[in-house]
Amino acid sequence: MAGPELSLPPAPERAPEYGHDALVVCDNLVRIYQTESVEVQALQGLDLLVHDGEMVAIVGASGSGKSTLLQVLAGVDAPTAGQARVAGHDLVSLSRSERVHYRRHVVGFVRQQTARNLVPYLTASQVVDLPMSIAGRPKVDRRRRTAELLEAVGVAHCADRRPDALSGGEQQRVAICVALANEPRILLADEPTGELDSETAQEVFAALRTANRDLGATVVIVTHDTAVSGQVARTVAIRDGRTSSEVLRSHDELATGVHTVGEEYAVMDRAGRVQVPREFREALALTRRVRLALQDDHVEIRSDGDAG
Ligand code: ADP
Ligand code: MG
Repeated sequence: MAGPELSLPPAPERAPEYGHDALVVCDNLVRIYQTESVEVQALQGLDLLVHDGEMVAIVGASGSGKSTLLQVLAGVDAPTAGQARVAGHDLVSLSRSERVHYRRHVVGFVRQQTARNLVPYLTASQVVDLPMSIAGRPKVDRRRRTAELLEAVGVAHCADRRPDALSGGEQQRVAICVALANEPRILLADEPTGELDSETAQEVFAALRTANRDLGATVVIVTHDTAVSGQVARTVAIRDGRTSSEVLRSHDELATGVHTVGEEYAVMDRAGRVQVPREFREALALTRRVRLALQDDHVEIRSDGDAG
């Protein structure tokens, strides 16, 4: 069935934009904190893509920029340079009113400090209702969603209790409900299990997984807890304000429940830079200059013999 021949010019070959199909795009993200005497580069050109539906853990030493990244993604803090986009919202150029809308409808944020996520004089039901009430949702609708959310993460029994009558794990699970109330595209959690014992931490982690699997939120969780990072399909490591490596786990590995090592990948940024782990550098005395050679199926890095 040869159709009539068309003589249209070929479509211009344009490379798709970096992260065009991702929910979260950080491109060369920089955040510099300027204090009176010093300048701290909390993020130094960080690249990160997160796709819709993913659950990603972010790990890294204290001070590596994890909270700064989450605050930028939460629309709480603005980057100094680079790009940050979430669900099509450009976080660099949000106006004041767009920022309010973004924080209310596009992201949900759970902090480490359990107490800061809730309001002392509001019950669990009331505090989950609050963001929906501010957004002007009808009361019947709000009541139904509140009950559904509390039930989904296993804290329905806490509905009429105030924070002081909740355990730390219950407080964090209610906080997850608050963050999810307005059906955000993405749920951000900054060390949400940091103040909890390991058993309680598991309950909170299970609630985040419910948010991801059953409630349709993409989840980004900063954690020190290797038991948590061992249970997600992708773990991204940040070092010195940049993404340095990633560990991917297969569905099978996750399903067995055994904490596996996963396969570790180094992250190459858009300029082609890769961070060579310190152990590797020390083992072969790789210092300032190295020799690179392209082989058939790999790239070789050797120490610069002359330098030593
Ligand atoms: P992490 O969460 O990985 O521990 P942070 O993002 O909190 O790291 O901090 C990254 C770096 O930025 C640290 O050196 C920290 O001291 C610095 N920093 C964070 N917040 C501020 C701030 N408000 N003013 C100045 N420096 C800050
Ligand atoms: Mg932090």
